[in-house]
Amino acid sequence: MSTFKAPKGTYDLIPPYSAKYLAVRDAISGPLRLSGYGYVETPGFEDVDLFARGVGESTDIVTKEMYTLTTKGGANLALRPEGTASVLRAALEANLHKAGGLPVKLWYSGSYYRYERPQKGRYRHFSQVGAEAIGAEDPALDAELIILADQAYRSLGLRNFRILLNSLGDKECRPVYREALQGFLRGLDLDEETVRRAEINPLRVLDDKRAEVQKQLVGAPMLRDYLCDACKAYHEEVRALITAAGVAFEDDEKLVRGLDYYTRTTFEFVHDGLGSQSAVGGGGRYDGLSEMIGGPALPSVGWALGVDRTVLALEAEGVELDIPPTTSVFAVALGEAKPVLFGLVTELRQAGVAADISYGGKGLKGAMKDANRSGARFAIVAGDRDLAEGVVQLKDMESGEQGPVAVADVVEVLRTKL
Ligand code: AMP
Repeated sequence: MSTFKAPKGTYDLIPPYSAKYLAVRDAISGPLRLSGYGYVETPGFEDVDLFARGVGESTDIVTKEMYTLTTKGGANLALRPEGTASVLRAALEANLHKAGGLPVKLWYSGSYYRYERPQKGRYRHFSQVGAEAIGAEDPALDAELIILADQAYRSLGLRNFRILLNSLGDKECRPVYREALQGFLRGLDLDEETVRRAEINPLRVLDDKRAEVQKQLVGAPMLRDYLCDACKAYHEEVRALITAAGVAFEDDEKLVRGLDYYTRTTFEFVHDGLGSQSAVGGGGRYDGLSEMIGGPALPSVGWALGVDRTVLALEAEGVELDIPPTTSVFAVALGEAKPVLFGLVTELRQAGVAADISYGGKGLKGAMKDANRSGARFAIVAGDRDLAEGVVQLKDMESGEQGPVAVADVVEVLRTKL
């Protein structure tokens, strides 16, 4: 072992386990790639104010969880704690919203950083795949994203997840509700920090998981009763479209989520096998965010699904992913056969067959051990005598059967067998 360890709250992805992460990223991005979303990649760090303004000065993410740094040049940067603000910043900077029709649909995949108290399912470095549809106010777009996430989870074989849905209202009706809620919260017996939160972002108090707070929230005014007609109609349409697609969801009027930029549709995907960190993904509409970061009005909607927690959810459900073998054919070269088998392995790879060869000048026993360890379905073994006859020995690693195949035919024979 080296002197160093992965920093607290982080972990390394090591083969073969790491293959699950690739499979999950593929499964989540697959439906997006079939639905008009283009791939976007942004830097791992941004101007700290992008998140302060975008995510919200009062959120835990900004006040407690950001990794911030000052560069030698004096710039204040933060490792990105989430994807939406960066992706919107990139879209605005590249003028994508002016380039063609709206919405601009983008998807991304990457690392995110939050200085949180580590526990199972909650890390300081984690990965997400996300999608953003920028510049259109259309219930069908909200529904599309929810349906695509559902499709992604189902394609992985996940079943025990639930979709929670709510509307947070818009700039017309939310302020009225906010005031009513604040009035109610002021009458409660809350600790100092919660009182402060009630003043800055009262909706977040609804999300407080503590029993002593929840007990007092009985009878709190509910946003549902304050939604304006436009928000109500919008939400009903989203619900109808998701229902028509056969996607089940639960109305959850307490769902507020931890970021300030959400308006109208908000949703979360929760998995019941994960304990306290049960949210595997979430998102919603953020109609005001573009203006908050200096852009034009661009009503938008998006989500981010956590890769780490999706992997944990798969394990909780006992789902085995269908991961393609890293090696289907393993070559064991004896005597002077190495260059010929090396050439065959290269050809197999070019033909799309996962192939590997024993390295390090091992003898038959050591090289066959490598072949076994590789999990290959077939081994091709050859020594000087085989080559003199223009053949290699093809060994079926499951049945143990072995027989000669002409060197010129090896690639074709293996391609048909696999
Ligand atoms: P959020 O931006 O907080 O809604 O996060 C979206 C998704 O990212 C969550 O549902 C989680 O799956 C994942 N996620 C957020 N924070 C963490 C974390 N600290 N560790 C692991 N996954 C996380």
